[in-house]
Amino acid sequence: MVGAPAVILPRRTAQHDLVIRGGSVIDGTGAPAVEMDVAVSGGRIAAVARRVADKGTIEIDARGVAVAPGFIDIHSHGDGSLFSDPREESTIRQGVTTIVVGQDGSSRFPSRRGDDEGGYGSYTALAAAIDRLPSSVNVASSIGLGTIRGIVVGADDRPATPDEMQRMLAMVRDAIAAGACGASSGLEYTPGAFASRAELAALCAPLAAARLPYSTHMRNEDDRLLDAIDESIDVARQARCPLQISHLKTQGPRNWGKLDEVFRRIDEARKGGMDIMFDRYPYIAYQTGLTNLFPVWSRDGGTAAFFRRLDDSSTSDRVRRETLAKIELIGGWDNVLISGVGRGGDTTAEGKRLGAFAQAKGAEPYDAAVALLRSSNGNVGMVGFAMSEDNLERILAHPLGMVCSDGGAFATDGPSRRGSPHPRGLGTFPRVLGRYVRERKALTLEQAVRKMSALPASRIRLGDRGRIAPKLAADIVVFDPATVTDKATFEDPFQYPVGVNAVIVNGAIAFRDGERTKTATGKALRPT
Ligand SMILES: [Zn+2]
Repeated sequence: MVGAPAVILPRRTAQHDLVIRGGSVIDGTGAPAVEMDVAVSGGRIAAVARRVADKGTIEIDARGVAVAPGFIDIHSHGDGSLFSDPREESTIRQGVTTIVVGQDGSSRFPSRRGDDEGGYGSYTALAAAIDRLPSSVNVASSIGLGTIRGIVVGADDRPATPDEMQRMLAMVRDAIAAGACGASSGLEYTPGAFASRAELAALCAPLAAARLPYSTHMRNEDDRLLDAIDESIDVARQARCPLQISHLKTQGPRNWGKLDEVFRRIDEARKGGMDIMFDRYPYIAYQTGLTNLFPVWSRDGGTAAFFRRLDDSSTSDRVRRETLAKIELIGGWDNVLISGVGRGGDTTAEGKRLGAFAQAKGAEPYDAAVALLRSSNGNVGMVGFAMSEDNLERILAHPLGMVCSDGGAFATDGPSRRGSPHPRGLGTFPRVLGRYVRERKALTLEQAVRKMSALPASRIRLGDRGRIAPKLAADIVVFDPATVTDKATFEDPFQYPVGVNAVIVNGAIAFRDGERTKTATGKALRPT
């Protein structure tokens, strides 16, 4: 199918770079699939027609399989490894062509010291660095409100002064002007958690005119879920900006019944004219730092202060009590899987349930958790199993719901084979198509593709992506709806999905028939 022309073609014969023949084209809008040819030239979709007469330099036979817009991951942590391994292997192999990073209040810009290894002075600098890499996927980024609080206010739990507010506001304004695609908060993380509603609303004001979203990892996702929903809506209402609730969930069995009320409050706010949507990953377990089992107040001031409170007899009992209450909420220590242990810590814990790990050591689980944190300077990753499968399907299928991975990028080889990650970084998009569309029929194929393409593209105003239509950027995935599925599991995460045939980024083939081809296909994106 790949072939150079055997003869010199007459000049009148237009030649496309690529023609994808006879696939079932799912255009991303939710419209029913139609059998079409798709031609690509100069990085853009040149034609979508029943029959494209002109030949392509490369031709892909897509008869019997689906052709869809490249998937857009609206909440990705792929920026964590982008600079150490720009292949973004596990991302591309899922059919994802754009990642939206800078999530949970944390972005790679701005940084305290200008451009250095850890961060960039501005979105302009970050985008230039991404374009130099070059990355295999397109990257759009929010500005992290926790990041700027850390720079301007520091790690402490106190309100920002008027002068600090002005400095943070200028950072948000500059980021939006430079092409950042929104602002994010992570209100269960420090120092982002120390921001008040009023502070968040003031900092989100520059999003209103640009119609870009405030994306929030809410202050709570379990017992105080409804309060957190109200807070998120209040912030966006005051700022008059769109609201994106990140990885919406009802954590802990005793909170599973709250989903109807969550939807009701969102509907009510939308009826009042607000623009609210949400995203979700297709797993009933979440991944975070083990320190997040511990109360926020105990982490105020950073890791050293946290360890001091564990040592201090006036605070240690309260930390223990509140942590055990959280463990009860998620259903016990065996619902906590250790996914990664930082330098100095006991890496034999990786991949094990905390309850079982502690028992094997003859230790109390709480003490084992604290010991892991102490030896690794607080760097322990965990997966918690506490969500409802029914609610997951309802959130995914809801017309306002999008698909996100909330995961990082990994690879089965090289520097990105690290730790014991949540499988969502390797399986999310094929899992939705395989498990939730084909097997469980929670949503249709066309609906699922829309939630992975046109909907997230419109959310961050990528006007020339997210659909299969002439003139749009040629980000395309070819997959087999009959076989596509994830393979990565919690026990054995380093497995790529199957059923993804080809992935095209900006008109170049990044992946085809199980092989990576070009790696330098992506670029930094800005809202149009
Ligand atoms: Zn999050």
